[in-house]
Amino acid sequence: MAGRNALFVPGPTNVPDRVLRSMMVAMEDHRSPKFPELTLHCLAGLKKIFKTETGTPIMFPASGTGCWEAALTNCLSPGDKVLASRFGQFSHLWIDMATRLGFEVEIIDCEWGTGVPLERTLEVLEADKGHRIKAVLATHNETATGVTSDIAGVRRAMDAAKHPALLMVDAVSSLGSIDFRMDEWAVDVCVTGSQKGLMLPAGLGIVCVSPKALALREQARAPRCYFDFGDMVKANTSGYFPYTPPLPLLYGLRESLSMLEEEGLENVFRRHHYLAAGARAAVQKGWKLDLCARAPKWYSDTVSAILVPEGINGAQVIEIAFRRYNLSLGAGLSKVAGKVFRIGHLGDLNEIMLLGAIGGAEMAMLDAGVQIAPGSGVAAAQQYWRGEEAARKLATSADAARLVPAGA
Ligand SMILES: *Cc1c(COP(=O)(O)O)cnc(C)c1O
Repeated sequence: MAGRNALFVPGPTNVPDRVLRSMMVAMEDHRSPKFPELTLHCLAGLKKIFKTETGTPIMFPASGTGCWEAALTNCLSPGDKVLASRFGQFSHLWIDMATRLGFEVEIIDCEWGTGVPLERTLEVLEADKGHRIKAVLATHNETATGVTSDIAGVRRAMDAAKHPALLMVDAVSSLGSIDFRMDEWAVDVCVTGSQKGLMLPAGLGIVCVSPKALALREQARAPRCYFDFGDMVKANTSGYFPYTPPLPLLYGLRESLSMLEEEGLENVFRRHHYLAAGARAAVQKGWKLDLCARAPKWYSDTVSAILVPEGINGAQVIEIAFRRYNLSLGAGLSKVAGKVFRIGHLGDLNEIMLLGAIGGAEMAMLDAGVQIAPGSGVAAAQQYWRGEEAARKLATSADAARLVPAGA
């Protein structure tokens, strides 16, 4: 098929050309005297993305899932209890892993389309007088339903209950796209991966660990080896790795960190919000469809899960989009399979690219028999992005300049 595949799954995301080029490198000796420069540069850059002074970023040759395992096994002992709320496929899978690794999980089951319930979390923590709960697991951005949770609020609930548990956060589909504050929110372990907001191929699992969590590995008895924080931190201190690192990904990361820095992290967050708001205008004002996210406070700025009308199979919309229009949309997972399709709007993205996805989704929905007005989603997104509200949202960012026509 001529032309590019339009990649609008919420990860992997589009890899910018600059990052692609930076990864075309000859292999090097990872024990050379020159190598540490690259490692130390990446680790320092990651600290800014996690917004931490005291935390320690660690990069594993892995994906986000590997870092879920690293978080659990470095800080806990077999049989330890953790608290987690479940409201989508990713929060579910982390819980499933914790159970399979031999931890006891107290699950707060929530309606899919909502996020971490703060009051219920507070109640459970207050009731845990003996402090049996050793960690609270929270999925910052539930990619399956397009829901962002209030991690600052989770921290407030833990503090209000005076509970000493660790706060572990999955920020795989939020870090570098939606504001995340490791130190301010006193997050103990933050888990992410390379292929979403960091605009790289999959292959780097990245965690950031607080001093408290790092110290715990002395007493944490869960079996671990490959994912041991201690081995990594020891080697990383001098810029090396305990085993062979994925060299091209490190060069790619160096470039993507530069791009985020050049745009400015706060501007990156603003751009994501601005693009997401246009996508939501397409869904709600244009197509007159509903998001899976139940209320505006849950809306995700990196992915929108769109509920298809009764009698329509969301999987068919995705299939038509791919086969007929070379557009990759995100599938509905598990409980929402067939009920939603997802548009990922994170990473290296602008209005025109996203209009392509909205236009393609519109054609695929029409072909699948969804009763929407042709062109309505594209028109609503255009109207949003051209409007004053959107301009205000970008007002303090570098992008604002191009919103004001010359001579206006
Ligand atoms: C993508 C994703 C994961 C899984 O990460 P992998 O890199 O595929 O292992 C975990 N959690 C969330 C929220 C995600 O979006």
